[in-house]
Amino acid sequence: MTSRRDFLKAGGAAAVSAALAGCAAVPEMKKPIGRVIVIGGGYGGATCAKYLRIWSGGTIEVFLVERDPTFVSCPTSNLVLGGSRTMADITRSRDKLREYGVHIIRDDVRGIDAQKKRVRLTRVEDLPYDRLVLSPGIDFFFEAIPGLNNAEAQKRILHAWKAGPQTLALRAQLESMRDGGVYILNVPNAPYRCPPGPYERVCQVASYFTKSKPKSKILLLDANPDIVSKAGLFRAAWNQLYKGMIEYRPNSEVKDVDVRGMAAKTDFDSFKGDVLNICPPPRAGDIARPFITANNRWCGVDWLTMESTVAKGVHILGDATLSAPAMPKSGHMANNHGKIAAAAIIELMNGRAPNPQPVIANTCYSFVSDKQVIHVTSVHHYDPAQKTLVPIKPSVGVSAQRSELEGAYGWAWAQNIWADMLA
Ligand SMILES: Cc1cc2nc3c(=O)[nH]c(=O)nc-3n(C[C@H](O)[C@H](O)[C@H](O)COP(=O)(O)OP(=O)(O)OC[C@H]3O[C@@H](n4cnc5c(N)ncnc54)[C@H](O)[C@@H]3O)c2cc1C
Repeated sequence: MTSRRDFLKAGGAAAVSAALAGCAAVPEMKKPIGRVIVIGGGYGGATCAKYLRIWSGGTIEVFLVERDPTFVSCPTSNLVLGGSRTMADITRSRDKLREYGVHIIRDDVRGIDAQKKRVRLTRVEDLPYDRLVLSPGIDFFFEAIPGLNNAEAQKRILHAWKAGPQTLALRAQLESMRDGGVYILNVPNAPYRCPPGPYERVCQVASYFTKSKPKSKILLLDANPDIVSKAGLFRAAWNQLYKGMIEYRPNSEVKDVDVRGMAAKTDFDSFKGDVLNICPPPRAGDIARPFITANNRWCGVDWLTMESTVAKGVHILGDATLSAPAMPKSGHMANNHGKIAAAAIIELMNGRAPNPQPVIANTCYSFVSDKQVIHVTSVHHYDPAQKTLVPIKPSVGVSAQRSELEGAYGWAWAQNIWADMLA
C-alpha cells in the first residue's frame, strides 16, 4: 500500500506543476487557488477534469480518481456485439490528461466524508478537497430480479450495460449460440442509461444473426409501453432489414430469471432463451449513494452548477443525476454536464457567480446495421422559472431516414467526443 506521504512525495502538487511545465495548452501553475477531486474518468468526469485545468488557466489543482486502467466507451459498444468493431476500436488511454496537469490516480474510491471534505481511497490514504466532482455512472438493483441476485447467476446472465469485460463475454455467448437459438434482451423502466441503447443492441445482434445464424430469433421484453426513442425509425429497420427475426413485447417488465432453465419471467409469462441479456433496474453508481434524493435511485442537482441539492461542494454529473425534463442519460449529456460543472466551479472558487443561463445539447446516433445509422438531437437551456434545464422545442428532432452518410457521422461523433474528453 502506498502511504499518503509517499503518494504526495511522488505525485502531489509538485508532479502537477512538473506536468504543467511540459504542457503548451495550460500555463504553468503558480499558486493553486484550491483542489478539486473528480471521481470517475468516464464521459462526465474526464471532460470536467480536463476543462477545469484549461479554463482555470491551470490555477486549480485537479485529481482524477478512476478504478479502470483505460477508458472503454459504452457508445459504439453495441458494434462489438454485432461484430463490426473490436474492443480496441472503442478503448482509449487517459494518459493525455496528464499533459493538461490532471493528476490521475488509479484507485477505487471507498467513501466520501462531505463534512470533512475528504475522500477515502483503497491504495492511498484519504485525500482532502475544496470541491468534489462525482461522475460514477450507474450500478444496479440486482435485488429487484431475485434469481440474478448472486454472483454465479451474474456470471451466466450478463447486462453488458457497462462496456468492458461483459461486452466481450456477451459477444462470446452470442458466438457460441446454436443457429436457431433465441436471444432475449430486456429494457428496464425509463429512465435508464441510453434510451435508444437496447433497440440499437437488438439491431446489432440481428445484423450478426442475419449473416451467421439466420434461423435465430430475438425477443425484446420492454417494461415501457412503447419503444422509448426513435420508435418509427427502429421499427422500420426491424421490419425492412431483419424481417421476422425480432419479436417486440411492450409492457413486459422482467421481474425474475430462472438461471438453470434459462428463462426470463414477467408477471404473466416465462420466456425460454439460449442467451439471456438482462439489465436490472439501474441507479446512481454506488459511491454516489449518500447523495441520492429521488426514488432511491438518482441524485438531485442544481442545474446551474451541478452541485448536489443535499451536499454543499459536491457536484454530480452524468447518469447518476436525477435527469432534467426530457434529458437523456447519455454520454453526450454527461460531457456537457462536465463543462457546466467546470465553468461553475471556476467561478465559485474565484468568488464569482456562475453563468445564469447555460445551454447544452445532445445527439445520439444509433447503428441499425453495421453501416446505417439514425440520430436524435435536442438543445436544452436553463429556465429560471422552473429552475431546471428544459429542451428548446424546435431543436428536438430525428433523422428523416437511416443512411450510410449518418453512419460516417456517427463514427465521427465518437472520435470527436473521445478527443474532447481525453486528447
Ligand atoms: C450499450 C450502450 C450504448 C450507448 N450509446 C450511447 C450513444 O450512442 N451516445 C451517448 O451519448 N450515450 C450512449 N450511452 C450512454 C453513455 O454510456 C452514458 O450515458 C455515459 O457513459 C455516462 O457518463 P458518466 O460519466 O455518467 O458515467 P461513465 O461514463 O460510466 O463513467 C463512470 C466512471 O466512473 C468510474 N467509477 C465509478 N465508481 C468509482 C469509484 N468508486 N472509484 C473510482 N472510479 C469509479 C467507472 O470506472 C467509470 O469509468 C450508451 C450506453 C450503453 C450501455
